[in-house]
Amino acid sequence: MSKGLKTNVLGFPRVGAGRELKKAEEAFWAGKITRDELEATARDLRKSNWQRQQAAGIDLIPSNDFSFYDQVLDQTLAVGAIPERYNSLKGDALELYFAMAHGQQGNGKDVIAMEMTKWFDTNYHYIVPEFVKDQHFALSSNKAVDEYKEAKALGIETKPVIIGPITFLLLGKEKEAGFSRLDLIDRLLPVYAAQLKALEEAGAQWVQLDEPFLALDIDDQVKKLYVRVYQELRRQTRLKIVLTTYFSGLLDNTGLAAGLPVDALHIDLVRAPQQLDAVLAELPANVALSLGVVDGRNIWKNNLQQSLDLIAKAVARLGADRVWVAGSSSFLHVPYDLEQEKNEQKLPAAIKRWMAFTYQKVQELALLSELAGGSASGAAKQQLAQNQADIADRASSALIHDAAVKQRAAAVSTKDYDRLSAYPERAAKQRARLKLPLFPTTTIGSFPQTKEVRSWRAKARKGEITAAEYDRLLKDETARTVRWQEEIGLDVLVHGEFERNDMVEYFGEQLKGFTFTQNGWVQSYGSRCVKPPVIFGDVSRPVPMTVEWSKYAQSLTQKPMKGMLTGPVTILEWSFVRNDQPRSETTKQIALAIRDEVVDLESAGIQVIQIDEPAIREGLPLRHAEWDAYLKWAVDSFRLSAAGVKDETQIHTHMCYSEFNDIIEHIARMDADVITIECSRSQMELLDVFRDFRYPNEIGPGVYDIHSARVPSVDEITSLLRKAQAYIPTERLWVNPDCGLKTRGWEETKAALVNMLAAAKQLRKENA
Ligand code: GLN
Ligand code: ZN
Repeated sequence: MSKGLKTNVLGFPRVGAGRELKKAEEAFWAGKITRDELEATARDLRKSNWQRQQAAGIDLIPSNDFSFYDQVLDQTLAVGAIPERYNSLKGDALELYFAMAHGQQGNGKDVIAMEMTKWFDTNYHYIVPEFVKDQHFALSSNKAVDEYKEAKALGIETKPVIIGPITFLLLGKEKEAGFSRLDLIDRLLPVYAAQLKALEEAGAQWVQLDEPFLALDIDDQVKKLYVRVYQELRRQTRLKIVLTTYFSGLLDNTGLAAGLPVDALHIDLVRAPQQLDAVLAELPANVALSLGVVDGRNIWKNNLQQSLDLIAKAVARLGADRVWVAGSSSFLHVPYDLEQEKNEQKLPAAIKRWMAFTYQKVQELALLSELAGGSASGAAKQQLAQNQADIADRASSALIHDAAVKQRAAAVSTKDYDRLSAYPERAAKQRARLKLPLFPTTTIGSFPQTKEVRSWRAKARKGEITAAEYDRLLKDETARTVRWQEEIGLDVLVHGEFERNDMVEYFGEQLKGFTFTQNGWVQSYGSRCVKPPVIFGDVSRPVPMTVEWSKYAQSLTQKPMKGMLTGPVTILEWSFVRNDQPRSETTKQIALAIRDEVVDLESAGIQVIQIDEPAIREGLPLRHAEWDAYLKWAVDSFRLSAAGVKDETQIHTHMCYSEFNDIIEHIARMDADVITIECSRSQMELLDVFRDFRYPNEIGPGVYDIHSARVPSVDEITSLLRKAQAYIPTERLWVNPDCGLKTRGWEETKAALVNMLAAAKQLRKENA
């Protein structure tokens, strides 16, 4: 292959194409393999990643992108920011590492894990650094150097990847009052300088410093800090620095980022292609520009011509020497290898043809480099032609484009978003029909997915039991659960969701426009991986999805049986989404499909229907300026899914996070009759928001935490409910747990719900 532009990879997935790391770690934690065996697996994975990139001809191959758990935790250890509670574990680096990651119990030790939270707007979770006022830092691990040398010994020159110092501090949390974590920068910088020096001495030429916060909203103090910190680092190291930003555009920070004394700047042109002109205008003459044109967040084949146009623009301005071709972000967020997808039933060849996973994306980078270099081979040109044919095929494919769906979405009118009457009128009709007591009780939907339930599903999948047998088992479990809810006296029952593997996959499998991979795993946190559905085409609902189960469950009881659906925004957020139309349009289609289900449930006699939207908040754009536009279509999609029913039908929604102070008006605009939310862990503090904002409809603030097996006492629950009464009028208060019970065992579930019902009774008495 003739050499074109420089190619740059920001990071690779690390769990292994066959999830080898996950398996090895879980075996290691269970004491089934030795530390040496775990280390050997890790080494093999790194080697295979590096060789794969080397073979493709990648110029800037990352190292230190491997991690046993999380790259932020790696850096926390590297700079020695080890919280005091782990002091007794410091003798053993790996034990310490895993204790910080997921806590440690047994052998007389009992330390809790560090907190985990979402990595920007991805579904990856990182371990949150903890800082104290008198925080000390010291270079405490050689991981970056070791991995650099490990690659070098294989004959592969790599570019170590390190989280930049400002992003590192911003990702963390102050664990005590009276200081700002940014104040720690002067203590942290010498450690960074030492880390870079060690890399330099090991022979490294480049280092990648990740500073995604440069593509977010940052205040003047942070902006000033960027200048000071990078000037200092520049003085401290002779390594060439590539400064990376991703997941959003530089926008107002363009001048700042372009002016930092680094050797190359990386920008994300998938998320923010429009930033190219401004960056080109601002970039000083000695700095190279790494163009993130190959999507690190999604699984679609690159439109090579579109990328070539962006590259050509940059080359015209900067010259070919200063333009690199790169993944938009680390490939951590996409699966390994499309060629592992061999099941045509699951992933038809016609759709597979439009997709690219990490291995394919690396090839795309090499190809782009060659094509942009000017002396491309005939083979490369042929590949470009093939790529354009695939892209054209996708653009016009009947698999994707369903005229009926498009027409229906286009014909949606403003009244389709509104219930027939306003809440007060609906509430009166619902009260007359449902005749619920004060403090009505319900649950969020799922009941324990026990080992047995999961084993039935596995057996059904493997053909070890027939579909009819599987159905019988699920029906019996459902019937038992309905009976038990009646026995303890719940008011609005649920069927238990035993038939569902996952709240998104279950619907995706039944909707048109979705497909599934067999090995499309991406890391969610630690050894946990998820396999998101792929939304490739126009979405519609060929036949009812949940009606049979709801009807069956309702037939077992006189009490209202709540229908249980996943909302359009959550289905979108937890899938790989098509990139050939706006997310808002895809969500609208999903909303119409869910609307059909809602209407069918109503026709089948279901009087209460819950549409879960736990992901509405995590879909918020990274840049504040884009919030309103997002919230508009996200809330509209929910309304569209819910508004097809009569006033008498009660619509619930559920959200499982406790921070929505900043979007409460939008939550109210969803206009669900009842919203159930998570608040028990914050002791109802979250309800503060309702002091200033009078939420107009009914609310069920979760009265106990389902994430722990602990059984709350009746008194605890009554006191929480009394607290809630201070914020929410009694006649609009519901009583329910925090979230679904699928991860719990039956024993604690039963005990907790019995107490919850006793608490509700107590309050009814008090308020009679
Ligand atoms: N209905 C779902 C359940 O109970 C809701 C889960 C969620 O919000 N994450 O499991
Ligand atoms: Zn929840």
